[in-house]
Order: sequence, then structure tokens, then C-alpha cells
Amino acid sequence: AKQSGRNRYIEFVDAMTAQQERRLQIAAAIKDGLANDEFYLLYQPKVKPNEGVVGVEALIRWNSPSLGMISPNEFINIAEQTGRINDITRWVIEKGFQQLITFQAQFNTQLKVSFNLSSLDIFRPNFVAYLVKALSNPNINTQLIQFEITESAYIENFDTAQTFIGKIKRLGCSVALDDFGTGYSSLSYLTQVQADTIKVDQYFVRNLFNSEKDRKVTDAIISLAKKLGMTICAEGVETQAQYEYLHQSGVDQIQGYYFSKPVAMEQLAGTLKRIDKQ
Ligand code: C2E
Ligand code: CA
Ligand code: CA
Ligand code: CA
Repeated sequence: AKQSGRNRYIEFVDAMTAQQERRLQIAAAIKDGLANDEFYLLYQPKVKPNEGVVGVEALIRWNSPSLGMISPNEFINIAEQTGRINDITRWVIEKGFQQLITFQAQFNTQLKVSFNLSSLDIFRPNFVAYLVKALSNPNINTQLIQFEITESAYIENFDTAQTFIGKIKRLGCSVALDDFGTGYSSLSYLTQVQADTIKVDQYFVRNLFNSEKDRKVTDAIISLAKKLGMTICAEGVETQAQYEYLHQSGVDQIQGYYFSKPVAMEQLAGTLKRIDKQ
């Protein structure tokens, strides 16, 4: 028994070491990856029921030559812990703005694009100045740019988050509260934050027909957000039943595989056309 306990301990240490090693490899590879254009963006449509596509969310992808495809769920976290997140955010904004400008020139259409921000971006002193400059590009209509931030930004420092949001809203951009309902926020935040939109987390969508309690929480979030005049976007919508329930509950925007997976900019026009005909 002593032997097997020892073996288990060695296995545990090995697994820890392997995990640590992978984190270190990823952290080191992010810097080169940005320089070598190993990252790219996909765009997922947000659909207004009976009206069509109202915008898209930019989602980063990374195909590393040495490590293979790595999910943002894995590398964003590592980038946050190793001081690289703001480099990634700036890369996303630059690439996204370029692609948006090209798309609009090619299709002569106005497309609203949302970008994810890390709460660390919000607390970075020069980041607002960076955004002001990026948004001053005459080919960018700031009304078409949205930023998605998680409630953790508010929990860390309410005043800083509020000031940040106030500034980007004055530039004409809109703000969505991402992953709403999953953190430790209280509903009273909703009366104070200056966000235009809340994104109901896919956790709630997934549980709509599995958990009566989660469904009641979802109903309450939707009803409160509506009373406060906010736009509601539900994410992770995969089935017709989820779509219909959320539509009937008054959700304004539906995002999820039910309409489309995230697609490359080259496929976006075709995807938007297909959805609008649906
Ligand atoms: P998120 O912002 O909550 O994005 C939604 C995630 O759900 C995306 O995963 C999307 O591909 C996925 N998704 C969309 N529809 C469905 C569906 O119907 N079913 C299921 N099961 N999943 C769906 P993705 O692209 O892997 O991104 C994961 C997370 O990584 C994002 O969650 C976001 O927190 C972060 N992330 C992605 N791109 C960026 C970025 O450019 N900057 C930052 N800071 N974070 C990013
Ligand atoms: Ca998001
Ligand atoms: Ca989300
Ligand atoms: Ca999420």
C-alpha cells in the first residue's frame, strides 16, 4: 500500500510538472506567435429573431506550429498570468479593424463587430489612449464597435471599470456584459453599470430544459434586464427549442451554433446571406 501511495504521488507530481511545462511552453510561444501571424480571427453572427444578423463577435484562434491548435480558453488565461494579454488584445483589435474595413469596402454594408476585452486590459493605464487612437481611424464607425467585458472587471475595481466604460461609450462604442450570471456579481450591479447589453451565459441556455431552477434564474435575468432597458443576447444557442424559448422570453439577440459556428471573414458574407434568408 505504501508503494502504491508513493506511485500515486509520483504520478501526481509528473502530471503537475507536465501541466506546468505546457503552460510555460504556451507562454513562451505566444510572443513569437504574435510576431509570426499564427493567430487569426473567426466571426460568429448574432441574430435578431425575424430580422436577421445584427452583428458578429470576433473570436481569436491560434494554430501554433509547435503546439497545434490551442483553445482561447487555455491560452487567454495563460496570457493573462504572464503579462501578454494586452499584446493579444491589441493584435485582435488591429486585425479586426482591418478585416472590418475590407469587408465594408467589398460588400458596401455596415457590420457591427464585438471584441472581447480582458479585465486586465481595462486596468492597464495606456489602454484607453490606445483605443482612442485606434477608434479615430476615419474608416471606423465607432457606433459599429462593441466591447464585451466580464463582470469580473467590475468586481475587481468598480470605479475604474465604470470610468473606462464611460470613456469608450463617449466615443460612440457600445458595451456588453459578457458571461452574465456566472460570476459573483449581484443583480444590483445591473442598475449601476453603463453597459447596453447583457450576454446570458451559455451555462443558462444549456440548462434551460434540464434544470427548473436555472430556468427560473434565466427568466429573472431576462426580465430584469428588459425592465432596465438593456439589450439581451443569449449565447450558446444550439437547438430550435432553446431558440424558441428565448425568443418568446423577449431575448433580443441569439448567438450560437443553431444559426452558425464562428466563421472566417472570407465565409462571412455567405453565412450572413444564408441566415437572412432563414
Ligand atoms: P466567450 O466570449 O463567452 O465566447 C463564446 C464561446 O462559445 C466561443 O468559444 C464560441 O465559439 C462558443 N460558442 C458559440 N456558440 C456556441 C454554441 O452554440 N455551443 C457551444 N458549445 N459553444 C458555442 P471560443 O471561441 O472557444 O472562446 C472561448 C473564450 O475565449 C471566449 O468565451 C472568451 O472568453 C475567450 N476569447 C475568445 N476570443 C477572445 C479574444 O479575442 N480576446 C479575449 N480576451 N478573450 C477571447
Ligand atoms: Ca464574448
Ligand atoms: Ca460569453
Ligand atoms: Ca465564456
